[in-house]
Amino acid sequence: MTDAERRAALEAIAAEVRECTRCPLHETRTKAVPGEGDPSTEVMFVGEGPGMNEDREGRPFVGRAGGLLVNLLGHIGWRREDVFITNIVKCRPPGNRDPEPGEIAACAPYLERQLEALDPSVVVTLGRYSMGRFMPGARISQAHGTTRLADPATGARDATVFAMYHPAAALRTPAIERESYEDVALIPGVLTDARARRAEHRQAARAAEPESPAPVTVHAPAAAPSAGASTADAPSGPTPPDAEASADQLSLF
Ligand code: URA
Ligand code: SF4
Repeated sequence: MTDAERRAALEAIAAEVRECTRCPLHETRTKAVPGEGDPSTEVMFVGEGPGMNEDREGRPFVGRAGGLLVNLLGHIGWRREDVFITNIVKCRPPGNRDPEPGEIAACAPYLERQLEALDPSVVVTLGRYSMGRFMPGARISQAHGTTRLADPATGARDATVFAMYHPAAALRTPAIERESYEDVALIPGVLTDARARRAEHRQAARAAEPESPAPVTVHAPAAAPSAGASTADAPSGPTPPDAEASADQLSLF
């Protein structure tokens, strides 16, 4: 898919989400929150569901948790516009209650299609509900800061999943906030490894089918969420960890 095709596919999904009545959450929402970001990014962040501010604006992570997410991204020199940000359920559960299994199931096809369209190298899960879809059975206290290969049934064809605590949990608990900064610092290294793994897969797939002309859709990895630009924009926070240091840390997993 070209960038323009990806953008169009994501916009078509968003338009459906805004009109969706597939589960009871549509009755109490103000605006559905399809998600937003760079259609050519390599990294998708998946939260739980819209809160009050998101429901009002129709945009993900614009309240306090969003402020912390932006700070976490800033820690590695990234901006929210460099990635794609969405949620497990696209409409606000009333009173910010947890989403119910039926609501999660009803909404899942949208996330699947977003993943198919974006084909990210890395999916970062924020919180337990999001982690539950990509790392079934994992416990967040142990899984945060670690990776798994995504099951292609999630819609992510060839992605590495990286689990983090939900920013709202970090806002409540200083120790979790500290761990979240440590976890986010691993993401550039996770991306480097994920890219290399995908490139190998694609090479292997091509080698396995020498007769077929072009069986595998290959797109050159898009730029990292613009390292250069965002370093310049990065606030006075710590500089991004270098890729090698992160890769070393990752080999511990
Ligand atoms: N919390 C979430 O999980 N998602 C949002 O979009 C905002 C807050
Ligand atoms: Fe539709 Fe998802 Fe909103 Fe339910 S939460 S109404 S499935 S968009």
